[in-house]
Amino acid sequence: MAFLSARRRMLLAVLAILAGLLASVWLAGRYAERRHWSETAVEARGQLELYAQSLRILVERFRALPAILALDSEIQALLRDAADPLARERLSRRLQRLNREAGAGVIFVLDLQGKAIAASNWQEPGNFVGGNYAFRPYFQGALREGSARYFSVGVTTGVPGYFLSRVVRDADGRILGVLALKLVMEDLQRDWARQTGILLVTDQHAVAILASRPAWRFRTLQGLSPELRARLVDTRRYGDRQLQPLAVRPLRQLDGDAELLGIDGPDGRRDYLRLRQPLADEGWTLQLLREARVPGGAVRGYGLAAAGIWLALAFLFLFLGQRQKNRRLLLRRRAELEQLVEERTAALRQAQDELVQAAKMAALGQMSAALAHEINQPLTAMRMQLGSLQLLLAKNDPAAMRSCLERIDGLLTRMAALTGHLKTFARDTPGGLRERLQPDTVVDHALLLLEARIRQDAVQVLRRRAPQAWVEGNAIRLEQVLVNLLHNALDAMAGKALRELRIELWRDAGDWLLSVADSGGGIAAEHLSRVFEPFFTTKPVGEGLGLGLAVSYGIVRESGGQLEVRNAGDGAQFVIRLPAALPPDTLQPSPQEP
Ligand code: ADP
Repeated sequence: MAFLSARRRMLLAVLAILAGLLASVWLAGRYAERRHWSETAVEARGQLELYAQSLRILVERFRALPAILALDSEIQALLRDAADPLARERLSRRLQRLNREAGAGVIFVLDLQGKAIAASNWQEPGNFVGGNYAFRPYFQGALREGSARYFSVGVTTGVPGYFLSRVVRDADGRILGVLALKLVMEDLQRDWARQTGILLVTDQHAVAILASRPAWRFRTLQGLSPELRARLVDTRRYGDRQLQPLAVRPLRQLDGDAELLGIDGPDGRRDYLRLRQPLADEGWTLQLLREARVPGGAVRGYGLAAAGIWLALAFLFLFLGQRQKNRRLLLRRRAELEQLVEERTAALRQAQDELVQAAKMAALGQMSAALAHEINQPLTAMRMQLGSLQLLLAKNDPAAMRSCLERIDGLLTRMAALTGHLKTFARDTPGGLRERLQPDTVVDHALLLLEARIRQDAVQVLRRRAPQAWVEGNAIRLEQVLVNLLHNALDAMAGKALRELRIELWRDAGDWLLSVADSGGGIAAEHLSRVFEPFFTTKPVGEGLGLGLAVSYGIVRESGGQLEVRNAGDGAQFVIRLPAALPPDTLQPSPQEP
């Protein structure tokens, strides 16, 4: 179950990473595209600005010319009286010269009926002279408002041009006619053709009146209503051009006024980036179309970079998550372990307490046995003495009676010593109690407790005393240890021919060593390392608990010492090492002997 959900989680993580990967690649691609478009747009805007400037300069250069020429007296004179063909030819000739200097298209003069009476192109085929232009808005506009501008295709020549016109008045302000100037912008268009992109100048009807590619000329970028179309035909504004519409489909608005368009144009169906700039004076709009090719390399590059970053982040995230999880797991394990240790420690402590209790009981049993034996003997002896005392009383033998009483007194003293010792043994002894004590005294007490058995088994006790020895420890508990060691030694020697108990005390640097050695044959090699283990015993059931040495070991360790065992001579040797203490009179020098 847990396994399954872990797998499912992994699957989810992989899916999330993949989804993130796709999303980041897609977003990066979009970003790369956006960047590309905005860079292209900035560049195109600069280009457009330049074009607009050149167009403005061109128009500006000729804007003032009609007004200046309208003041010309020769022109005014001819308009007042146009009958003389020679005068007309003279003026045409002059306009021709002027036009050559100025570099405009055509300069011509119209009378009040709209008839051209002189023109700079008078010598060319299809010249304006004699033509009637009364229907042209630039003529009507000039009469109405004083001046006019108008783009249209020439009626006579079929060449498109920008017409600038000005009314001509005499000194009294009477209208004599109109002076007009036609700007031909073919050169400009030829210049544009060399640049990148398609440049269009559209008029207020969205008709491309100028285009850097000839095929785009006179295409409309938006539909024309039938009425408008009819009016445009009437004024012959675009001559007999067809005004084919371009199918324009907006795709996306980009930053600023840049936009992406799909145009079904003369070059086929293509996507273009379009930028526009209005030419307010003329009411035209300059439009730059740049073919919109998605920059595959940049998109791929950005996509790869985004994928790299995304994967790096995802793996970092996973790594951190895993680490966090591991740490949590580790903490939980540690907590569990700590709890386990605590539980085990508590259990061990309890077991130890129970052991100590059992050992106490065992020691108590041994001691009761020893005491019963020890007290029984003097009691029997005393009863016998009392019997003899009664006999002696009858015989009235005071001397023998005294010696009998003395023996009874001796037996009583011995019993008092035993019970007195028992009292100290029963004293409550807290575990950690440390006192200064003399090992010799403790040995005396232990031997006293076991005296009966020693005598019974005819064991020879050899002692090396050291009355100057003082150690740190707890006398009662040390005695308990010694009783146990002596007991074991006596048990081991029972039935042996040689029964020799050697109790020695000597100094080793900062410690005193107390050794109990017997001639009981020693401990088997495989048992040597185990004798201090609780419940290790080789004695028959009912005789040994196997706790004595374990408890002894614990007691000696507790009082800062060590208990060791080895085989030496004919038997086992137990050595108790205890830290030496200063004798009691060292700190306060004893008063001078008298
Ligand atoms: P118990 O005396 O109840 O068996 P102890 O812990 O006092 O428990 O002793 C454990 C064992 O160590 C004994 O059963 C015995 O085999 C061995 N042992 C102890 N002292 C001697 C000794 N002096 N000589 C030989 N074996 C000994």
